[in-house]
Amino acid sequence: MDLGIKGKRALVCASSKGLGLGCARALAEAGVNLVMNARGAEALEASAQAIRDEFGVDVQTVAVDVTTAEGQAAVLAAAGDVDILVNNAGGPPPGMWSDWDRDDFIAALDANMLTPIAFMKALLPGMMERGWGRVVNITSVSVKAPVPVLGLSNSARAGLTGYVAGTSRQVAGSGVTINNLQPGLHATDRAVSLDAGVSKAQGISMEEAKAQRAATIPVGRYGTIDEFGATCAFMCSQNAGFMVGQNVLLDGGATNTTM
Ligand code: NAP
Repeated sequence: MDLGIKGKRALVCASSKGLGLGCARALAEAGVNLVMNARGAEALEASAQAIRDEFGVDVQTVAVDVTTAEGQAAVLAAAGDVDILVNNAGGPPPGMWSDWDRDDFIAALDANMLTPIAFMKALLPGMMERGWGRVVNITSVSVKAPVPVLGLSNSARAGLTGYVAGTSRQVAGSGVTINNLQPGLHATDRAVSLDAGVSKAQGISMEEAKAQRAATIPVGRYGTIDEFGATCAFMCSQNAGFMVGQNVLLDGGATNTTM
């Protein structure tokens, strides 16, 4: 399918690996030039070069922590007038409700709510002035159905979702759409570290922990970063111009709800 976005420019935050990389690759396949980001420069440059080689698009890299003010300034300076923004950052650590104090919540809010809001605040005015833009925030299934050990994520991402619900309606008339993409379990490093948590807590092997978690998904497996990226690219396409303020759940059917 022609997504109608060839030649556009996208900032994809936290994209050297995992879901962000899946989004960067799918946008590149659609002919979109990229600004990619992660903290680790080596993996970031390797992923960027693989994308240049495979898809022939222009890729700039900015190796900084997006959750810091300095990191955001560096990314925004490189991004300039991007047409597409994919917000992403690492997720907060798991734990018990009684573990977390104010500093833990501030860190989670910074990473998974205030950072995407800062990027939207900086980049939406240009998109609105030019009459076209797409924002996709990578959030989590935990907004729809809480993951009890991820209380920090449940909280911060719910806050971002509330912000997007209202803001998306305020900017839609300028040709700019904002939507959230909610991953369920996907085969990434993050999933491996959560498998390790289950393995440790239950005294079972990593294979058993993974099989146990995969068995909760009607599809019977974890999602892939290619499937996730393709959905993100569609949400950034010309065809998705009527999709506003939505929370698109990609979880292989794991969340047992009618709507
Ligand atoms: P991942 O495989 O661990 O990849 C994370 C990517 O983000 C890496 O490229 C990492 O590179 C980069 N990154 C992390 N923190 C960053 C920061 N502060 N600044 C810049 N780059 C940063 O994670 P993932 O599975 O793709 O998950 C992405 C997001 O989706 C996370 O917020 C996660 O909680 C959420 N999520 C994932 C799943 C899942 O099953 N995978 C499910 C629900 C929600 P560096 O480490 O080099 O910075």
